[in-house]
Amino acid sequence: SSAVPAMAEAAMAARVPPDEDGDECLPQYRHLLSPDLLAGQVAFITGGGSGIGFRIAEIFMRHGCRTVIASRNLQRVSEASKKLVAATGQQCLPLSIDVRQPQTIAAAVDEALKEFKRIDILINGAAGNFLCPASALSFNAFKTVIDIDTLGTFNTSKVIFEKYFRDHGGVIVNITATLSYRGQALQVHAGAAKAAIDAMTRHLAVEWGPNNIRVNSLAPGPILGTEGFRRLGGKFAEKSEQFSVIPLQRAGNKTEIAHSTLYLASPLSSYVTGTTLVVDGGSWLTSPNSFSALLGIASSSAK
Ligand code: NAP
Repeated sequence: SSAVPAMAEAAMAARVPPDEDGDECLPQYRHLLSPDLLAGQVAFITGGGSGIGFRIAEIFMRHGCRTVIASRNLQRVSEASKKLVAATGQQCLPLSIDVRQPQTIAAAVDEALKEFKRIDILINGAAGNFLCPASALSFNAFKTVIDIDTLGTFNTSKVIFEKYFRDHGGVIVNITATLSYRGQALQVHAGAAKAAIDAMTRHLAVEWGPNNIRVNSLAPGPILGTEGFRRLGGKFAEKSEQFSVIPLQRAGNKTEIAHSTLYLASPLSSYVTGTTLVVDGGSWLTSPNSFSALLGIASSSAK
């Protein structure tokens, strides 16, 4: 069909930065901003071993930042760290944490401070999600998503506040979602968890502003080449007309999310705090949200 070349042309006209599928670094990168934008800084990135978090780590490192990438699976973050160091020449420390367990976060933050002597940026990217109607969701499944997303974001923010940001200032970017804005079908767990994080963003921006800490959320739309998209969007997105309901006529990519996160984490946004930056091509405004229709697609593709 002519839809694909038309989309590629539109993407070129819009100057969409290239991305790589899977958890691989970009084969080449053209800087749009100064390569030393984050020089001398250190970012602690939860969920930094895969998907969006991996690309955030790469783009930050390409702008002079050293990184700590932390999640449960040490092998995953270790392999990711090797790729990131090879592609960017910056340092990257992989650490194992479970954001539901504050003592594991505290141990990792101690290790990061021992290695780098500072932390300037915290990216709360760790999360879990799946499609499920509320009627089929177990009590425990709902709780698990709140535990990882909402409590995990609070736990990590508080540990880093106490160990470093309180006295030195810092920047926090919470990766959330637009799911709650229109009550997305099959997403009560993740929508509620991310909405609570957006609230936390405002509360902490108010309380920690005097400590020179900025706190913002970034809410991605459907992002190609991620576990999130494969699990949530993939079954709907196989149909290419899915994208035509999005105002920008396409899904986003991980590089685009990393660029917007770079803005929020850098001095480019020095007077921005307590906000949510939506990075979704306008998607939440127009995407389908019929419970019965989405339930039909979800259950037929699960067979
Ligand atoms: P992903 O690759 O599955 O990233 C999730 C990360 O969280 C993984 O690296 C995972 O690593 C880590 N994690 C999960 N549970 C954890 C725990 N208890 N403690 C520490 N780390 C944990 O997914 P993604 O699609 O790139 O999503 C990244 C972020 O963007 C998430 O916050 C997601 O909600 C948000 N988002 C994504 C999309 C999208 O289209 N992909 C859309 C909207 C929002 P381990 O398994 O090693 O722990």
